[in-house]
Amino acid sequence: MKVAENLEYITQQIKNACVRVNRAPEEVKLVAVTKYVSIERACEALDAGITNLGENRDEGLLAKWEVLGDKPDWHFIGSLQTRKVKNIIDKVEYIHSLDRLSLAEEINKRANRKVKCLVQVNAAGEESKHGLAPEEAIEFIKSLQPFENIVVAGLMTMAPYTDDQKLLRSCFRKLADLRNQIRELELDFAPCSELSMGMSNDFVVAIEEGATIIRIGTALVGEEG
Ligand SMILES: *Cc1c(COP(=O)(O)O)cnc(C)c1O
Repeated sequence: MKVAENLEYITQQIKNACVRVNRAPEEVKLVAVTKYVSIERACEALDAGITNLGENRDEGLLAKWEVLGDKPDWHFIGSLQTRKVKNIIDKVEYIHSLDRLSLAEEINKRANRKVKCLVQVNAAGEESKHGLAPEEAIEFIKSLQPFENIVVAGLMTMAPYTDDQKLLRSCFRKLADLRNQIRELELDFAPCSELSMGMSNDFVVAIEEGATIIRIGTALVGEEG
C-alpha cells in the first residue's frame, strides 16, 4: 500500500474517534514510526504530507537524518542509552522515553536549548516494558526541577499488545489521570500537556482517552521498505 492511502484511512479514523468524544482532530499529532522501513519509504511519507517521524534507535535516526535533515520534526521513541544522548540531542524535537535521573542529567548537560521530554510510564505494569511505575512518576517529575534544559512536555506509554479494549482503555485512562494530576501541580518546568499513547493496534482507543500524540508504524508506513 502507498503511504498516502494508509494516511487517508488513518486520518479518517482519527477524525471519527475525535467526533465520538468531542475533540478537535487538530489536537492529535500523528508521528510516522519509520524504524522498520527504508529512507525511501520515509521520503514517501513526507511527500504524502507527514511532518513528524519517529525512530527508536540512534543509528536509525542518524541514517535518515543524513538524508532528510530537519525537514520533519523528529521524535526519539525508544529506550535511550545515556551514552547515545549526544548523538541525537540536537536533532530531535521530542524525546519520548525519559525514565531515569541519569538520563535527565545527560540530556540537561548535552542540550544547548530546552528539550521537550515525555516521561515514560509503564501504565500496564508489564514486566517487559520500560518506564516508571505510575506511582513513581510524580516524585520523579518533581526531581527534574533543577534541570534547566528539560521541559516535561507530557507522558508517554506503550499499552500491552492485545485486542482487549477494556484493558487498553484502562491503561490509557490511567496515563490521562496521571497527566491531569501533574498538570494540577502547575510546575513551570512541567506543563505536561501531552499524552503520547496509541500505536497501530490501539490508536483509536488512545484518542478516545485523550492522546495528543500517536505513534504509528505498521499501519502507516508498513513493516519494511
Ligand atoms: C515501534 C513503535 C511504535 C509503532 O508501532 P506499530 O505497532 O508498528 O504502529 C510506537 N511506539 C514505540 C515506542 C515503538 O517502539
